[in-house]
Amino acid sequence: MVSTESSVVADRQLVSFDAPAPAAPRCLVCGRAGLEVFLDLGSTPLANAFRLPGEVGEDPSYPLRIARCPHCQHVQLAGSVPPEKMFNEYLYVSSYSETLVAHLDSLAAAITARRHLGKNDLAVDIGSNDGTLLSAFARRGVRTTGIEPARNLATLARSRGIETECCYFDRFAARKIRQAYGPAMAVTATNSFPHIQDLDEYLRALDLLLDPRGVFVVEAHYLGDMLGQTAFDTIYHEHVSYWSLGPMKDLFERHGLTIFDVERLPIHHGQLRVWAARAGAVPVQDSVERLLAAEREAGYASHLPFDRFAERAAKIRASLGRLLSDLRSSGATIAGYGAPAKATTLVSYLGLGPETIRYVADRSPLKQGRLVPGARIPIVSPERLLADRPDYVLILAWNFVDEIVAQLDAYRRAGGRFIVPVPEARILD
Ligand SMILES: [Zn+2]
Repeated sequence: MVSTESSVVADRQLVSFDAPAPAAPRCLVCGRAGLEVFLDLGSTPLANAFRLPGEVGEDPSYPLRIARCPHCQHVQLAGSVPPEKMFNEYLYVSSYSETLVAHLDSLAAAITARRHLGKNDLAVDIGSNDGTLLSAFARRGVRTTGIEPARNLATLARSRGIETECCYFDRFAARKIRQAYGPAMAVTATNSFPHIQDLDEYLRALDLLLDPRGVFVVEAHYLGDMLGQTAFDTIYHEHVSYWSLGPMKDLFERHGLTIFDVERLPIHHGQLRVWAARAGAVPVQDSVERLLAAEREAGYASHLPFDRFAERAAKIRASLGRLLSDLRSSGATIAGYGAPAKATTLVSYLGLGPETIRYVADRSPLKQGRLVPGARIPIVSPERLLADRPDYVLILAWNFVDEIVAQLDAYRRAGGRFIVPVPEARILD
């Protein structure tokens, strides 16, 4: 890969709100100034800062504004929060969702088959969470190592027999892994790539770790799906980037990587799966040019699709706010289901609290007993919701709506109703 040691690169980090005098934010991909903010979600709590009821002090909140770069079109936050405030302890655990476990298994299967990985090959997962993806590689006989900065998750993964380095991915970590295990034939980053604030450091580290014949497979929420679903609640401080293929291709090429295939997947809120390898190592599929053409067609070079997205988000805020307030006035009881990070953005943007949403049920024992950040709505077990039978359940984890409706079949059969917030607020039939 090409080395990009230049003075421009040093500037390619978001402005930290903790800095004494923030300068104008620069683009994470091209390093230029002039980012255009298209949606301001206001001061918003950290999405995964689920605190206990007894903890004193305000929940930490920061401005949350999303912008596009008029030069390279990369969509990103116009400010950042230091990673150690968000990722040193993390309550999102991959294995709590059956849909996600099955998805990660199919990803390991696809990479193993396509690159003919065997017992001498190494797969490294960056942001490896509880080791769910790496377990799927290990089941197929591939050697594995995880990189996970959250101490609680690294410990959980190790207890499941998955070797895990508890650190952020940088050149130091890459050298350490390469010395201990050799070069990687597959490096994966599922949903952690949008978190990366210093993309150039990350890709330089990848260059040190990746075998000349290795592949780098990224899965990230796709910008096109966020716009299409009006998924404004997927905007939160952890996600500094909102990827489309165009800017990612530019960034990778600068680091000597070629994107040779791209897929759009329905998991989560609509994912982009990008396959990259060192330039010239793997033939490029037509899928890459097709998606780039679709992005040109969708008008990402102009501000219009982004302005329309912001208008629709404001409309959901008004209509969902009205629906919940009408139900409340009629004496109906409302609970929430799922306390994913995006619940924090939605609840904060609508200004909801426990007076409207009595509690939120979530399957994760790590979240039960804690509070939705900012709104301080209690998080309880799904059993509580089934026993209580509120009149309405607002599905906050709407990307798993089918799984949730199936899990709560007894509630539905007893007359319970579901509300889905996006792409427009509605009560399910
Ligand atoms: Zn840019």
